[in-house]
Amino acid sequence: MTQFPEAGDALRAGAILTVDLDAIVANWRYLDKRVGPGARAAGVVKGDAYGLGAARVAAALADAGCRRFFVATPDEGLALGALLSGRSDRVADIIVLSGPFDGSEADFAGAGLIPVLNSLEQISRWRSLAGRLDRPLPSVIHVDTGMSRLGLRYAEAESLSEDADTLAACAPVLVMSHLACADDPDHPMNRRQLAAFQAARRLFPGLPGSLAASSGIFLGPDWHADWCRPGAALYGLRPQQGKANPMRPVIRLDARIVQVRDIDAGETVGYGATHRASRRGRLATVAVGYADGLFRSLGNRGWGHLGEHRVPLVGRVSMDLTVFDVTGLPDGLARPGDMITLVGPDSGADDLGEAGGTIGYEILTALGRRYHRVYLDGASS
Ligand SMILES: *Cc1c(COP(=O)(O)O)cnc(C)c1O
Repeated sequence: MTQFPEAGDALRAGAILTVDLDAIVANWRYLDKRVGPGARAAGVVKGDAYGLGAARVAAALADAGCRRFFVATPDEGLALGALLSGRSDRVADIIVLSGPFDGSEADFAGAGLIPVLNSLEQISRWRSLAGRLDRPLPSVIHVDTGMSRLGLRYAEAESLSEDADTLAACAPVLVMSHLACADDPDHPMNRRQLAAFQAARRLFPGLPGSLAASSGIFLGPDWHADWCRPGAALYGLRPQQGKANPMRPVIRLDARIVQVRDIDAGETVGYGATHRASRRGRLATVAVGYADGLFRSLGNRGWGHLGEHRVPLVGRVSMDLTVFDVTGLPDGLARPGDMITLVGPDSGADDLGEAGGTIGYEILTALGRRYHRVYLDGASS
């Protein structure tokens, strides 16, 4: 994909996004071990690996031994397929959660992608293609247990289970479902969905199952089935509300200070003049804004770090610029060219999401295209 401009040079970029591939791999290994030996962890790399770059992330995970990837759409599946096909030594399944959009079935089969079949319509189209190609075409059967988003109802799954010809054509490799409330371990939906999933699995004896995403893994072994589907936890997000985060942090976001200026008591900052200085102070303006995915809802609510000093975000976030209050920092700490850390060791994407009224997932997937990206792996560190 071409970018405008080429974000090639760290000196020309307003901010630097550092992605620690070793940490992603370590997180995957931790989860794979945690669910083992009975189950395995796949890697969910949809949404361009939650904004972090699917090409780099999937390659690192494949190197580490990840043998099954989940993406969201047919296009994501084709792109990942092209990437992994150059690696004949490392075969991995690519499973597409949306299933084939009407008309994309042949592309799927041609690229060896495995669709999640979410409805009887998708099943019947996949079956027809298998008939035309005169070979079974692997698939994943999705049974809804409480999300009411995608997936077969129980009665539909039951009729499928009685249709031997369709099952032979669609050659399921997995039966899956998805949890609605797994980030809250005490939520009654978790047990209810587990029971519904177990009932659905009894319709397809011998077929491996998959229920848990990141948070579901932490509900315990009952939820692990045969394959878990972590995304967020690979990228360092906190799997459970209100609990310590066992995952290694993955990203760091450093924004360049363009200007440092003094402000007098009574002067205001930014559009709408929503922040008024109560005393004489000092401001640092950095070169990131909502065009980079720094949500406008962080205005007067977010913060950054300069070294170990926490600096509040003042005024509104504008498209390309954001202002921090650096009053009273030791001399020489906030100078033009220095960096304010927006996501780092002292404050993760989950914290930024909370401050902006959203979740870490949205912070990551909103990360813009203007960052200079640095990927850390064994070779570069
Ligand atoms: C996005 C998604 C996942 C991964 O979820 P995380 O919470 O990021 O681990 C797993 N399964 C399905 C069906 C998804 O849509």
